[in-house]
Amino acid sequence: MIEPQIRDFFIGRIWTRNNTPFPKEKIEKYINSNHLSIRSAITVIQSPNLFKQKFFKCNRCHNENQEEFIQFECARCNELCVYCRHCINMGRMSRCTDLIVWSGPVPNFKHHHELAWEGKFTKAQEQASNELIASINLKRNHLIHAVCGAGKTEILFPAVHFALNKGLRVCVATPRTDVVLELFPRFQKVFPNTILHAYYGGSPKQPGFAQLVIATTHQLFRFEKAFDVVIVDEADAFPYTSDQALQKAVYKVRKNEAPIAFVTATPSLKILSQVKQENWGHSFIPRRYHGYPLPVPRFVSLWSYDKKINKGKLPPKLISWMKTRLEQKAPFLIFFPTIQLMELATPLFQEIDPKIISVHAEDPNRKEKVVKLRNEEIPGLLTTTILERGITIKNVQVAVVGAESKIFTSSALIQISGRVGRNVQFPDGEIVFFHHGITMEMDVAREEILRLNKEGFEKVTV
Ligand SMILES: [Zn+2]
Repeated sequence: MIEPQIRDFFIGRIWTRNNTPFPKEKIEKYINSNHLSIRSAITVIQSPNLFKQKFFKCNRCHNENQEEFIQFECARCNELCVYCRHCINMGRMSRCTDLIVWSGPVPNFKHHHELAWEGKFTKAQEQASNELIASINLKRNHLIHAVCGAGKTEILFPAVHFALNKGLRVCVATPRTDVVLELFPRFQKVFPNTILHAYYGGSPKQPGFAQLVIATTHQLFRFEKAFDVVIVDEADAFPYTSDQALQKAVYKVRKNEAPIAFVTATPSLKILSQVKQENWGHSFIPRRYHGYPLPVPRFVSLWSYDKKINKGKLPPKLISWMKTRLEQKAPFLIFFPTIQLMELATPLFQEIDPKIISVHAEDPNRKEKVVKLRNEEIPGLLTTTILERGITIKNVQVAVVGAESKIFTSSALIQISGRVGRNVQFPDGEIVFFHHGITMEMDVAREEILRLNKEGFEKVTV
């Protein structure tokens, strides 16, 4: 007899044998009956070329970078062992670690999924949505290139609904935990009779077999050949773009040649060339759902701002920018390149208005702080790049301090600019890049926004 909760948990997963949410005896029983099969976490692969070199591969994160395999004296196997440093944050995978995958029967979970969404699409949204459905049907990859504020999550609803009702298992993956936390309740509402799980670092155990999974790209390391459709939302976000293993993870979690759809406001050149060369489906939405153009960033010099802040002074231009927002009673976000500089600046802002607070990635109250800004309990929020995407605040005005810093890539700057003017009642707003010298990335960001506005205008008027 198979216990459904064990089967449902393991289908599509790759998991450590000694660390499951079930009693050890039960796991061993399923291994003995061949319902779970075992694989070493790190295998040695021999290269097929002439020299037959041997190299390591991690079977959880698919890392093959040899520099990230570390030898150590292992207390468990009493030998010189090797572990994978790449996925160490999720628990150590070494040569003597066993991974298990479900190899028992998989029942048919097919049932009718309801779509409880009554919003209305713009023409461009509707077209993109239909194009995505067509690509899923054809089992080909797809790129949705949609400007910030185009309503891209809604575009996914009909396609996900279509796939679920075909009995397909769907994963929506994104590099950012914040985005998972934002997407999960929205999908729950729209798919009321679908079992839906959310996975991120520290997510709770969730019962049943989820036909729809929303997960961070990191959590994909724990799945294998699991999904019939994979959608990567915010495909341009850190750390996905700079991490080969995360990119491979997206491919390893799909069954066979299952289609992958990438959704982004700022596609990389690599993705754009794949679209052409590999004949992907492609949807482009240059206009926001409300039809207004994207706010264009202003460049304002703020020479030696870091020295001034270090000396306990805010640059006058920054003070006057903020005072204008306070007078207008418009909520504002000010982005900083580092936590350190932000923390030096926070008390200086608080001298002007004590209600101004700051937020960064490790802040346990980051969600509450964003809610406070949204509810107008605070006038403004200082932040690092963690709030560059995924948040929508009515009438928000945005400044970037130190826009020339390396962390502000053109795509980060486009995303940050995309926070402004999202609401139809306030389709415009202030986006200013305070800088100590204009960089190429700043120029590229502004040029791209101007280009999109021009294309959006032409697409609407033609
Ligand atoms: Zn690994």
